[in-house]
Amino acid sequence: MSDFALSPEEIQFRDSVRAFVAKEITPNATRWDMEERYPREMFAKAAELGWLGIGFPEDIGGSGGGTVLAAILNAELTQGSAAISLGLYVHSMLAGAAILHLGNKAQQARFLPDALAGRKIGCWGYAEAGAGADITCVKTRARRDGDDYLLNGAKLYITNSPFADFMVIVAVTDPDRGLKGMSLFLVERGMAGVSVSAPFRKLGMGASEMAEITFADVRVPAANLLGPEHLGFVAALKVLSLGRIASAATAVGLGRAAMAEAIRYSRQRVQNDRPITQHQFVRFTIADMATRLEAAWQMTLNAARLVEAGKDFDCAAAMAKLFATESCTHICERTLHLCGAEGYMRESAAQRFYRDCKVLEIGEGTSEIQRETIFRHVG
Ligand SMILES: Cc1cc2nc3c(=O)[nH]c(=O)nc-3n(C[C@H](O)[C@H](O)[C@H](O)COP(=O)(O)OP(=O)(O)OC[C@H]3O[C@@H](n4cnc5c(N)ncnc54)[C@H](O)[C@@H]3O)c2cc1C
Repeated sequence: MSDFALSPEEIQFRDSVRAFVAKEITPNATRWDMEERYPREMFAKAAELGWLGIGFPEDIGGSGGGTVLAAILNAELTQGSAAISLGLYVHSMLAGAAILHLGNKAQQARFLPDALAGRKIGCWGYAEAGAGADITCVKTRARRDGDDYLLNGAKLYITNSPFADFMVIVAVTDPDRGLKGMSLFLVERGMAGVSVSAPFRKLGMGASEMAEITFADVRVPAANLLGPEHLGFVAALKVLSLGRIASAATAVGLGRAAMAEAIRYSRQRVQNDRPITQHQFVRFTIADMATRLEAAWQMTLNAARLVEAGKDFDCAAAMAKLFATESCTHICERTLHLCGAEGYMRESAAQRFYRDCKVLEIGEGTSEIQRETIFRHVG
């Protein structure tokens, strides 16, 4: 794959992540997937290497860098395990980034040093039983009560919630104002009235853990309101848009891992004394995978570079996310097909990739939401 578009520093960073992934993640990925438990030590290891702090200023424990390094990190981690990458991403690039971009100095000082050191883990909760692709359907309610807000409702399918110490929660503060009546709150696990269900079982992303969080008259101090009252969610849209670039990078990483597996199998699979790469169908399938991945990576890098140049990146991020995730699903399906029965076995990497890929088209805005965004820019 061409990485002509990367600087020498970016290539050095990529190679250091790649070496860690080969040693620490890839050999364990299938076991972690089957155990359906997130290896918590991964947060401390990622913190030690400075990866949780990418995009965060150094004076609050960050390691600097920007969207391009974050994209490289996601793509490389995902080549070892998409589930591991997802847990780290939700923690630092969603929950942590929301505090960085919307939090006041006191909130940043209270939450970020522990978060970036991997001592306290975060999650991000907006989805509910009745609110998924359409964010305006959120029902979790926060009512002002003296110096606190009283929080009631539930958040569904929340990654990292089984072990998260802090939660960035979207709640309605003014029901008459739609999107402009939603605020963000920093909820802490120990607060009375917060309960987390047992982890859910899922099709893929086995090692990542998710659950439902319920809030019953939770007293959240007004000091934990994150960003402007009523306009917190609108203010968070930039963080979510950045998340699309991370999601695109994740899809590229998973697609690359799948393609490597397809190449490995088809080169070593011999029938009639010939490897199956002798069939034009196999060669063409892999060539198409490589072409899609190249395009997806260039689109992802382009969106990331727009962010770093301070330019509008909304449409580029939506296009990258849409193309990379749909390509990834296609590539993972083709890999399973090329790997035949061996790929279908529970221990194979090909079936794990096939189960992991689909959620990338669902989370961070479904493909339909990306298409709506793109049409708003071009239509
Ligand atoms: C593994 C995993 C991890 C997750 N982690 C988190 C997390 O950490 N935090 C969190 O908040 N959520 C999380 N989610 C939930 C995720 O945010 C939602 O799944 C996503 O927003 C889609 O919502 P939904 O599943 O309710 O689908 P629905 O909203 O029911 O949509 C179903 C289908 O209808 C389409 N559709 C719906 N509305 C429209 C529309 N207006 N226009 C066009 N098409 C539409 C969708 O595109 C989709 O194809 C996670 C989900 C999964 C599977």
